[in-house]
Amino acid sequence: MQVDFLIVGQGLAGTLLAQACRTRGARVVVVDNRWRSAASQVAAGLMTPLTGKRFTLTPDYPRLFQKAQAAFSNLGVFQLQDVYRLFVDAEQRQRAQRRMTEPDCQPFLAAWGEPGYQQARGLTDQWGGVMLRGAWVQLPKFLAEARAQLLAADALVEDDFSVEQMTLENGAVSWRGLRARGIVFCDGYQSAQRGPFKYLPWQPAKGEALDVIADFPQPPFILNRDGWALPLGGQRWRTGTNWAWNELNEIPTEVQREKLLGRFRGFFGSAGKVEVTAHVAGVRPCTADNHPFLGTHPQHSPVHLFNGLGPRGTVWAPALAEQMAEYLLKQQPLDAALDLQRFNATSF
Ligand SMILES: Cc1cc2nc3c(=O)[nH]c(=O)nc-3n(C[C@H](O)[C@H](O)[C@H](O)COP(=O)(O)OP(=O)(O)OC[C@H]3O[C@@H](n4cnc5c(N)ncnc54)[C@H](O)[C@@H]3O)c2cc1C
Repeated sequence: MQVDFLIVGQGLAGTLLAQACRTRGARVVVVDNRWRSAASQVAAGLMTPLTGKRFTLTPDYPRLFQKAQAAFSNLGVFQLQDVYRLFVDAEQRQRAQRRMTEPDCQPFLAAWGEPGYQQARGLTDQWGGVMLRGAWVQLPKFLAEARAQLLAADALVEDDFSVEQMTLENGAVSWRGLRARGIVFCDGYQSAQRGPFKYLPWQPAKGEALDVIADFPQPPFILNRDGWALPLGGQRWRTGTNWAWNELNEIPTEVQREKLLGRFRGFFGSAGKVEVTAHVAGVRPCTADNHPFLGTHPQHSPVHLFNGLGPRGTVWAPALAEQMAEYLLKQQPLDAALDLQRFNATSF
């Protein structure tokens, strides 16, 4: 079989790139090992405009948000939902207060919360908080729907890809009887472990999350303070997460389970019954400069990478998949801050 591109991985990156290429008339085949190491299956799918201790605004957020809304709304998996960022102390409150007066933050401010603003809902917001306009995406549903579409189009192989089975000749790629003019690695943090792009400065970070049933009243917004709690209706919640840079695998740990439970309970002023129904772990494909990696291997022109989405795949992937498709199919230049050419290469 002859195709334009072979895509390794059907997480957010591979799925959206496959869609962007197919929309532009290209033929692709995706090979995925049934999400064995998919961060996209573990992610909460939250989109928050301001992140971290300094309330940093993701550059170009309004455009990224618009692209994400368009990409995910098609399958009915996108939901606008405010995020209540609860302050941890007076200093954080002051910092947020200053930040929210800046013009670039104003569009994302839904409400300002004085101390105790949400205490009536049983929340522990003694330092107050800020209600931000956010959204969340049901990623597992999105991936499952997209997978069914790829299977129906004979564009998905459910198997392990290995570099040893691939050959590069005459500027093309061959893999198990399939010929492509290029291959794109969208295999998440696995690219940091082996393969042609291992040389890049990756900083993969493991994170865990819990699904719980709890009898706390559910607010009509997402909670965020050193982690998040996403109300899913009825008594169901998803809550997470942590950051760990060692033992990079998909195995949930007892230590984090207890920490996440403690944090979840900490959102509420009263004791309540909490039952864990699922505990998952995944590894974020983070990069040393916090920017994704897009582009072509410096020594092998048919070998490409669309990866490094780090903790913000939901925000970044839709817009960047389009950029990557334009680059692959129409030779449009990549944004220099994302192009992997910004790093020195070594051979594989
Ligand atoms: C706990 C946690 C919470 C998160 N929460 C959020 C959040 O709220 N919002 C947000 O935007 N981001 C969040 N993220 C980050 C988000 O998950 C990532 O940015 C995004 O999912 C990365 O997508 P990807 O497609 O690059 O990689 P992945 O989702 O990891 O996909 C890679 C795919 O390639 C497959 N694969 C790998 N190697 C091979 C091989 N050799 N052969 C075949 N297939 C292979 C894998 O099985 C997988 O299906 C979170 C991450 C974690 C771990």
